[in-house]
Amino acid sequence: MSLFDTSLLALPLFEDRHRRLAAQLTDWVAANRELPASLAHESAAERGRLYTRVLGRDGWLAYAIDAEPGRDRPDMRAVCLIREALAQLDDLADFAFSIQGLAASPVAWFGSEEQRARYLPPMRSGALIGTLALSEPAAGSNLAAAALRADKVPGGYELHGEKTWVSNGDIADFHNVLARTGEGPGGLGLSYLLTPANASGLGAAQHIELLAPRAFSSLRFDNCKLESDALVGQSGMGFKYAMEILNFYRVTVGSASVGFCRRALEASVDWARNRDIAGAKLIQSQMAMDKLANMALYLDAASLLVARSAWEFDTGVRDVAAHASMAKLFATDGAGKVVDDTVQLFGSAGLVAGSLPEQLYRQVRALRIYEGTSEIQKIIIAGSVSRPRRPAPRA
Ligand SMILES: Cc1cc2nc3c(=O)[nH]c(=O)nc-3n(C[C@H](O)[C@H](O)[C@H](O)COP(=O)(O)OP(=O)(O)OC[C@H]3O[C@@H](n4cnc5c(N)ncnc54)[C@H](O)[C@@H]3O)c2cc1C
Repeated sequence: MSLFDTSLLALPLFEDRHRRLAAQLTDWVAANRELPASLAHESAAERGRLYTRVLGRDGWLAYAIDAEPGRDRPDMRAVCLIREALAQLDDLADFAFSIQGLAASPVAWFGSEEQRARYLPPMRSGALIGTLALSEPAAGSNLAAAALRADKVPGGYELHGEKTWVSNGDIADFHNVLARTGEGPGGLGLSYLLTPANASGLGAAQHIELLAPRAFSSLRFDNCKLESDALVGQSGMGFKYAMEILNFYRVTVGSASVGFCRRALEASVDWARNRDIAGAKLIQSQMAMDKLANMALYLDAASLLVARSAWEFDTGVRDVAAHASMAKLFATDGAGKVVDDTVQLFGSAGLVAGSLPEQLYRQVRALRIYEGTSEIQKIIIAGSVSRPRRPAPRA
């Protein structure tokens, strides 16, 4: 059985290579169905490390990390299909894939040839793990407020400050640190600096335990010394780079949400078909039908919004931000509603620790917060409809 909606894949929003990729992903997930259970004895952080290696070994990371010169942006439809499939296997597999892709983006998209040659091949194979360290205790949604200082010193930089909510922070070999280099105020004075995890002055990562556990931490920098070749791209362009990367990846958060929803709907239908309630099956109750219909509707609409947005990125449509935000907002909010209804259909069985509804319930919550909260997506969407329209060209 396909992991995807084949009627959606048949639309002209996709090409044959995407249909072939979807078939390969379906086979790969079927062959690796036992992987999550076989890793269950490991910590969540260690599972993240192992998944990164497996995804590199089996070639999936190469879709997010294109090391070919001149082909810096990945094919978004491929990245979305991979996230949709991995989310149906294991939350941590999807997490490992997305964070490694995010962490490679500054170098892949804006780095020098030397940096690309040094970082991208081992990141694609999963041998080198990176992070994208943007957030700080007082700068989350408003990244322009990032305060971690990078002072220019002879031969390089010295970092002072803190990063937090860093995915893979405790298992990474290096960090892409968004730091204040001071070319201008707010977002104009930030740059990306490649920081080895063992750099002098970078303290040990402080693990943060989350609702759905994963490698996640805060990092403290005190006189952390870097060479001048740590700079990625141009000094002062870090905020613009961050917005480009987040704009791309937020659509893929929508595709992961679709994957979680597919799993929730499938489990809900199975359960409702088999659960006896007062001499009938639960699925015969109109209230259960109402839930299943809403789930299917969210899933379908979210899949279409994600596919449209990915197609727009891949085909070079301009002004993609509002559609990307719509896809992320609708799919992640929808995942919350769909999974909540799954728990409701299961009753107490859906609250048991380790049951599928309980796991999904915890796993989908963060989707509405990272890579731009739901409120930030609404600000972007509202901005796009309230902006004065360009006059139509004269005939
Ligand atoms: C699982 C997970 C992984 C993450 N991974 C990373 C990572 O790898 N690297 C990294 O740098 N960060 C990461 N983050 C952090 C994430 O990007 C931030 O948490 C997010 O940007 C929100 O910032 P904040 O938590 O500081 O909340 P705040 O920005 O303080 O927002 C708090 C509330 O205020 C609302 N709000 C904020 N601004 C406005 C506004 N202008 N108008 C109306 N409402 C507003 C928000 O929507 C939210 O509801 C991760 C977070 C999670 C949960």
